[in-house]
Amino acid sequence: MKHKKYVLLALLLLAPSCGRTSLSLGATDVEALLKIGIIADSYGEMTLGVDPWEVVVCRIPISTNDEIFEPSSERMSLSSDEIVKRLTPVVSYFKRHSYGRYQPVFSAGKDVIISDTETSDDCAERALDQSGPEVRGVMVVADAEHGADEFGGWGTPGVGCNESCSASDTRRAVYVGAGDFMDYWNGDSPLDLVEHEIGHALDWPHSTTSASNSGQELYDSALDVMSDSSAPRMVISTKRHGQGTLAINLYAARWLDDDHLKILDRSRRVTTKVQLLATDTDLSIMGKRFVVIVDGVNSFLTVELIAARGDNAHLKSNAVVIHRITVTGTSGVDRQQIVVKGDVQDGEKWAGNGISIEVLSIDSDDGEITAEIEMTVKKAVTS
Ligand SMILES: [Zn+2]
Repeated sequence: MKHKKYVLLALLLLAPSCGRTSLSLGATDVEALLKIGIIADSYGEMTLGVDPWEVVVCRIPISTNDEIFEPSSERMSLSSDEIVKRLTPVVSYFKRHSYGRYQPVFSAGKDVIISDTETSDDCAERALDQSGPEVRGVMVVADAEHGADEFGGWGTPGVGCNESCSASDTRRAVYVGAGDFMDYWNGDSPLDLVEHEIGHALDWPHSTTSASNSGQELYDSALDVMSDSSAPRMVISTKRHGQGTLAINLYAARWLDDDHLKILDRSRRVTTKVQLLATDTDLSIMGKRFVVIVDGVNSFLTVELIAARGDNAHLKSNAVVIHRITVTGTSGVDRQQIVVKGDVQDGEKWAGNGISIEVLSIDSDDGEITAEIEMTVKKAVTS
């Protein structure tokens, strides 16, 4: 709703494009950010408030022909009720990262079953078909483990929808193999895969450390639950959650607002100092959480400060990180998010493409982690 108003505003602001004197830019001045807002609008308010999910176990026959499954007669013993209980920390994870704006609520649904010749996709189709009108997302857990070389699961926001967005219509779903719910975890399941797949169902894309990895399905960044979500427990073996996600995803989900965003003007050469608060800082504290610097028609750089604590305790230290975001396609999952610099420390500098970003200091004071950044941009050449 809010963003529609901005589109109109943008048209008014953009029309007389010469002679604009405003020094402080808004999200409406950046076309790629406007697109992110329009895409978010097309999914209604799926990332805000209470989000009812139904958890369904899919029974996989021992004689299944679907090669995704490990050829084994072992099966997960948990019922959908027990999985719902196991997902309690996932509810807190999303409440925490959304600053209380989003809360998935899981309830147990009826098991589904597939035949020998059907595939894991049929599990999801069946669970979606049987879900009631109040259910906005279906989470299917197969009772068989995937083979070691197979993907762990998938998640989709489904098709855009504004009102009464039943999963049976939108086909919004998460599917995972039994791996994280098997008895050998002794009730202590890793939750990062489920959190990653729900991230897709919130319309978040993957991120990766290199542009050449994009399309290679190499999700190797320890900075983002939408990349290498197992990084926290690979460093600290007792960790069960995925790490946090990037500021741009928080913004697309409307968990961060325009007020939390600083946009650098590229209509002239400019040097600006910005104080950033760590992205995990409670929203009751005013301040910028990330900077956007346009560097192409559909792309921009983001600069944010990730605090090495909580779900991000696996990181070596608090770090300023830079990503290049390219907005393509008609949904958020199509966005390209690539690490430009994964860790800029005090006194370090990154420069490229007419932009230089220097971290003057990173400080921690009574739990409040901040970074002082100085950025210089050359005037962008635009046609
Ligand atoms: Zn994924």
